[in-house]
Amino acid sequence: MFNKILIANRGEIACRVAATCKRLGIASVAVYSDADANAKHVAACDEAVHIGGATAAESYLRVDRIVQAARASGAQAVHPGYGFLSENEAFAQACEAAGIAFIGPPVEAIAAMGSKAAAKALMQSASVPLVPGYHGDDQDAALLHREADAIGYPVLLKASAGGGGKGMRVVERSEDFDAALASCKREAASSFGNDRVLIEKYLTRPRHVEVQVFADTLGGTVYLFDRDCSVQRRHQKVLEEAPAPGLPSEMRRAMGEAAVAAARAVNYVGAGTVEFIMTGADFYFMEMNTRLQVEHPVTEMVTGLDLVEWQLRVAAGEPLPLTQPELKLDGHAIEARIYAEHPARGFLPSTGRLKHLRMPKGVEFAIGSGGVKAAVRIDSGVREGDTITPFYDPMIAKLIVHGATREEALSRMSHALRACEVVGPHTNVEFLQRIVTSVPFSSGDLDTGLIERHHDALFSATRKPFREAVALACAALLNREGGEAARNTHDASPWSALSHWRLNSGYTQTLNWRDVEKEADFPAIFARDGAAQTLTFDDVSDRFTWWRGDGPHAFGATLGDQHVTGRVFIDGDAFHVFCRGDALAFEWQNLLAHAADTEHGEGRLTAPMPGKVIAVLVEPGAMVEKGTPLIVMEAMKMEHTIGAPTAGTVSEVLYAVGDQVADGAQLLVLDVEWAAHARCA
Ligand code: ADP
Repeated sequence: MFNKILIANRGEIACRVAATCKRLGIASVAVYSDADANAKHVAACDEAVHIGGATAAESYLRVDRIVQAARASGAQAVHPGYGFLSENEAFAQACEAAGIAFIGPPVEAIAAMGSKAAAKALMQSASVPLVPGYHGDDQDAALLHREADAIGYPVLLKASAGGGGKGMRVVERSEDFDAALASCKREAASSFGNDRVLIEKYLTRPRHVEVQVFADTLGGTVYLFDRDCSVQRRHQKVLEEAPAPGLPSEMRRAMGEAAVAAARAVNYVGAGTVEFIMTGADFYFMEMNTRLQVEHPVTEMVTGLDLVEWQLRVAAGEPLPLTQPELKLDGHAIEARIYAEHPARGFLPSTGRLKHLRMPKGVEFAIGSGGVKAAVRIDSGVREGDTITPFYDPMIAKLIVHGATREEALSRMSHALRACEVVGPHTNVEFLQRIVTSVPFSSGDLDTGLIERHHDALFSATRKPFREAVALACAALLNREGGEAARNTHDASPWSALSHWRLNSGYTQTLNWRDVEKEADFPAIFARDGAAQTLTFDDVSDRFTWWRGDGPHAFGATLGDQHVTGRVFIDGDAFHVFCRGDALAFEWQNLLAHAADTEHGEGRLTAPMPGKVIAVLVEPGAMVEKGTPLIVMEAMKMEHTIGAPTAGTVSEVLYAVGDQVADGAQLLVLDVEWAAHARCA
């Protein structure tokens, strides 16, 4: 076995690999970019080497720097994690050339599966079933169009070198094909440096079921069962589970064996995932990922195995620790990916400092013999105070639960999500909770269109514990005010110190709030008369008491007959209330402090996130309709098209192709008056 390895990655997967190293007594070396000098993964490893600038291209994608770091630190092997260089042949080759073991498959296997098109050709000859489509070398646009017409719409365009759903375009009609092809090629070229595409019949209501395989250098190949990853947004996984619900055992075996055949066809070694698309009882090969997957923890939970340990053992030349008959499934596991993003704004990535981060009580990748199993496990690469930057994937954490049955795992997941508290970037926590508790998901009626089909229900406004949350916000504000006054008067009791309060005489204080989500202002009137206290808002008056709970941010209150406890995280004048599994935010309208605030102007078109301008589709003077695409931005390797919010005339374009823009920067000026006049005329 190795005694020192370098982890060529960052974030949660680097921390995850470091945890297994620690358990096995292997020294770990981290690499980091300018943006990650104080990152969690650096602290998780025994040593760390700086490799370059903040962007991935300047750091985590620098083959030369990483190999040099491995050499200099004396690491015997490199673990690439997922993403970045994990499926990069040149990197695997450079490691081998430097005499450092690459913890992954042989270069030839990466090459064989690196191109979706070539992989499909290979699988065809190994008799693994394929989705009808075109994966030929000839990339002539007219030919591709004819092939798509022949396959029949809808078709799916994929970047042959692609991954992570990037570059994929569903084309519904022949007349949309050319534009979709251009857009797919553009995103493929920028994300993967290769614009080759393939076309597949777009299956309706399919499931994504994948099989974990493992092979050693001695000819052993096994499958570690399946995962269902059907719940996706923008073709990216959101929730994953193992085993795939409702799969008959013969089908489980057939898929497992097909996956093993696929791995054997490329002389595979190490951890790999064979992805299938399934409709009814039919399954077709989609691709093989030649690395550890983001969702590997659900497989660890149901097999009780540490897959990183298996990777290390196989890379060191040891045989697979278990044979196929020795592998057993135990219970059910579900993983939810907690992202910094805006679900309601098309899942746009969100950035910012994690001012407050509280995850449910769980195990941070449990260390110990058999230690991968826990009722709740959290794999995270960030801590409170860290920043989600635009440079890398905006994942905050993976929340993984295990239960004896799927029902038990589901209720555990729902419970765990209720305990997640994040202040700073927007997150998908509430959205995940809605999916987990939705009928289609909880009944196991899974397919890749689940989110889209149930869009309205998943995005509709829900009833939140509004009155309870206001009571807690008021408690926190009264506590803060009283606390400050108390310090001034050297009196520890906040009640005797409340500003304006007079013993035995009526006292009222108006707390002006803004409900952040509803963008509505409302006053809450706190009154005390003798021993009686009331809180009045929304035209309802209730008896009110409050107290400080145990631990930071904890408060309790009674409002009428309601008793509520929760946490209030105060960020300046913003009061973030977490109670009854919901998050609500109120801004205290400190009228004196904000007298000078101004309003935003109309007709401004601003960047919804930091990123780069990759196409400007209009010129000054252009008359546009509402929704006309104006500018295409790229952020986090995804294209985002910014459309006109209303009809008007473009009077100025403020950025050019290639420019980097900050979050909220004005991109162009749209003259909306003109259109209004024109319509009147
Ligand atoms: P990537 O490597 O970019 O993740 P995949 O080929 O793995 O791309 O596909 C990602 C997802 O896109 C799948 O999980 C599935 O939801 C959807 N998908 C892929 N191929 C098809 C298809 N032919 N028909 C319908 N959906 C598909």
